[in-house]
Amino acid sequence: MIEVKIVGAGLAGCECALSLAKHGVKVKLFDMKPKKMSPAHHNTNFCELVCSNTLKSSSLEFAGGLLKEELSILDSEVLKSAKESAVGEGEALTVDRELFSQSVTKKILENKNITVVCEEVTKIDENELTVIATGPLTSDGLSKEIERLTGQELYFYDAIAPIVDAESINKEKTFVGDRWKDDGTDYVNCPLNEQEYKEFYDALVNAERVELKNFEQEKNFEGCLPVEVMAKRGFDVLRFGPMKPVGFKTQEKPYAVVQLRKENKIGSMLNLVGFQTNLKYAEQKRVFSLIPALKNAKFLRYGSMHRNSFINAPKFLTAQSNLKTHPNIFIAGQLSGVEGYTESIASGLLCAIFVLQYLGKMPKQKLSIKTCLGALSNYLVSANEVGFQPMHINWGLLAPINAPKDKKKEEMAKRAITEIKEFNKIWKD
Ligand SMILES: Cc1cc2nc3c(=O)[nH]c(=O)nc-3n(C[C@H](O)[C@H](O)[C@H](O)COP(=O)(O)OP(=O)(O)OC[C@H]3O[C@@H](n4cnc5c(N)ncnc54)[C@H](O)[C@@H]3O)c2cc1C
Repeated sequence: MIEVKIVGAGLAGCECALSLAKHGVKVKLFDMKPKKMSPAHHNTNFCELVCSNTLKSSSLEFAGGLLKEELSILDSEVLKSAKESAVGEGEALTVDRELFSQSVTKKILENKNITVVCEEVTKIDENELTVIATGPLTSDGLSKEIERLTGQELYFYDAIAPIVDAESINKEKTFVGDRWKDDGTDYVNCPLNEQEYKEFYDALVNAERVELKNFEQEKNFEGCLPVEVMAKRGFDVLRFGPMKPVGFKTQEKPYAVVQLRKENKIGSMLNLVGFQTNLKYAEQKRVFSLIPALKNAKFLRYGSMHRNSFINAPKFLTAQSNLKTHPNIFIAGQLSGVEGYTESIASGLLCAIFVLQYLGKMPKQKLSIKTCLGALSNYLVSANEVGFQPMHINWGLLAPINAPKDKKKEEMAKRAITEIKEFNKIWKD
């Protein structure tokens, strides 16, 4: 009987193991805990939440809430444990982290189809069916092995830039155009005059930053400095860097320009180019809203900074989350390019679907981008290879819908739930 090796008993690895086991597949689950702990893991149980204890909102007003609903319909065991260990009665799914880890660990240890091995994995057998789900803090030994398999350094970033909803920007305060290219349409440019730049600059250099843990301070690439760090080097540094006002054929020469670049193919999400930051979220909203075009911008993702190993999914993964060069090796969780607790659980469940399909134990039906699960999985292969960054679920990843503005989210949620219920007919068998 075929046995699937899963490396990493975190959120993705546990969900993948439990889902496969439920479908009668034997699993050997490896984790280096408790013999060896990553710099952020401290608990001896599996499925540890390394930082905050919230899986965020369950409301269908948010894409994250819809993702949870989809996982619930597909009977995610890890999400069930989260609900069982919930604290408080608010909309957010906030959990008692000890109870949560204990609950998932118990399910793993009691499952007859799962064998647990406490060991650091540093070599991958290229002939074995393997899921690698070792997360953003994958041990150094395994990182090197993944680099050997893909032939490229594991991407590792310190800071990411915020993303705004394209519909929420003030288009009258922008102009479209690429620097140095007459007919370019890749960028939406947000100009600032001298006074606006001064106000923005003062707010930026005085804004509050998130404190970093020691292990996160290891690298600060000169080519990817947080915008506030650059700004502190001098008043004009940004005007010679990401905000340089040159190369455009505008009648009036702006004093500084912030460029927004499409984050997805349909252009519903825009990335603030070169604005990787470690400011606190509220400060990002306050400071970046001083850019006239972004006065009422809705932030789909805030910038953040921490250690994060992930592979360049669009380059190395197929749509089924396995390596293009080694179809028997699957990647799940944050390592595959998703971002966040719920997204990692979702990725574990998706990976179980893909493994079952690979084994011929399930029809090869695809989840469309009308669902959060399908949209998340689609992002990994359709995002830009250059500058690829992990992503958390948001409405901009889903297929657009033709509905009145105030009904859009509701209609998108209804559409996704109908599709997931349909998919569940083949999944639950
Ligand atoms: C410092 C930090 C803070 C974060 N805070 C949040 C947050 O507050 N909210 C949020 O939504 N997301 C947060 N994230 C992002 C992400 O959601 C979590 O990291 C999430 O736990 C990722 O799930 P995962 O299953 O991919 O990996 P993990 O849950 O990290 O699981 C990976 C498992 O693999 C094991 N492992 C690693 N290397 C090996 C090896 N070589 N052999 C065997 N086992 C190995 C580890 O021990 C671990 O148990 C944070 C990430 C980091 C790095």
